[in-house]
Amino acid sequence: MATKRDYYEVLGVQKGASDDEIKKAYRKLSKQYHPDINKEPDAEEKFKEISEAYEILSDAQKRAAYDQYGHAGTDPNFGASGAGGFGGAGGFGGAGGFGFEDIFESFFGGGGSRQADPKAPRQGSDLQYSINLEFEEAIFGVEKDIKYNREETCHTCHGNGAKPGTEPEVCHKCHGAGTINVEHQTPLGRVMSRQTCDVCHGTGKEIKDPCPTCHGTGHEKRPHTVKVKVPAGVEDGQQMRLADQGEAGINGGPYGDLYVVFKVKESDLFDRDGAEIYYTLPLSFVQAALGDEINIPTVHGDVKLKVPAGTQTGAKFRLRGKGAPRLRGNTNGDQQVTVRIITPKNLNDKQREALRAFAEAGGQTVSEQREEGFFGKMKDAFGGKK
Ligand SMILES: [Zn+2]
Ligand SMILES: [Zn+2]
Repeated sequence: MATKRDYYEVLGVQKGASDDEIKKAYRKLSKQYHPDINKEPDAEEKFKEISEAYEILSDAQKRAAYDQYGHAGTDPNFGASGAGGFGGAGGFGGAGGFGFEDIFESFFGGGGSRQADPKAPRQGSDLQYSINLEFEEAIFGVEKDIKYNREETCHTCHGNGAKPGTEPEVCHKCHGAGTINVEHQTPLGRVMSRQTCDVCHGTGKEIKDPCPTCHGTGHEKRPHTVKVKVPAGVEDGQQMRLADQGEAGINGGPYGDLYVVFKVKESDLFDRDGAEIYYTLPLSFVQAALGDEINIPTVHGDVKLKVPAGTQTGAKFRLRGKGAPRLRGNTNGDQQVTVRIITPKNLNDKQREALRAFAEAGGQTVSEQREEGFFGKMKDAFGGKK
């Protein structure tokens, strides 16, 4: 700590430098010393020093404290977080106003971190696959084989892109770096920029004899089959991640993942919300009035339900444990039964008589409302106005 250099000196700016000047100086120096680019042994050390200086001087509050008290004025925790180094867990991110984005942007003009090193292994793409499930399959679970095409590591060359018996060579243009410096003539003078090597496309390797299967890409499209164990109790729209079942990685990176999305068919009999199943029980008004024992369908088989005398439409009954399994825990939801009283249509004479007798027994009188009677009344209504 005692040998720490002055932050302004580190960035090569005056004590009264504007925020813009500090930012510019930092961008220039961080490009120069970034350990991914600069392979000098002390580059990482310098880069850390630059980053630390920038972190303090780019923050008005920290800068003021530093101006007043020197290194002692900066956050005592800073030393610890700065020690993580580039890419270390504690390195960046924790300290305010300072992110990866900022750094990578300054190198590659906003290209983002993906371009940081074209040779770096990257995970392959994730894929998505929809599985159609019957209503009961979602409740009880099922095993399904799914087939799809995906990019796999070439089975002929095992991914290195070279014809079997040959090896990829170090790229003659970038000497294995994967990037080249390109000079541009601009009205302001010559400008250097770093680009992905056009010979090896950033791999740093050159294939003289390409693999006949993948033509040097190291990947080939292949049909792929996966056994999917659909857990009991899944719902429409839920998804499941199957690690490594996506596409092959780049530069030897791991495979991507497969996301399986469940599409559950509706049932003619039941509605479902999570572990609860809903069933509407049609009941004749006689059954409702007198009470009855009824077989109720459930996904677990028929269940006998005693409907008490005097049941009203909208009455609810609960069949415990007859719903769908809960994804967490070993229990089932319930099946809710809602009564709907069905008023009979198209009565025959005997039924009509019986109902009339029923009404009279209760002290009610019911006027004649037969179909003929209805039309007769219509005639009367029109006839009366003539
Ligand atoms: Zn191949
Ligand atoms: Zn190259």
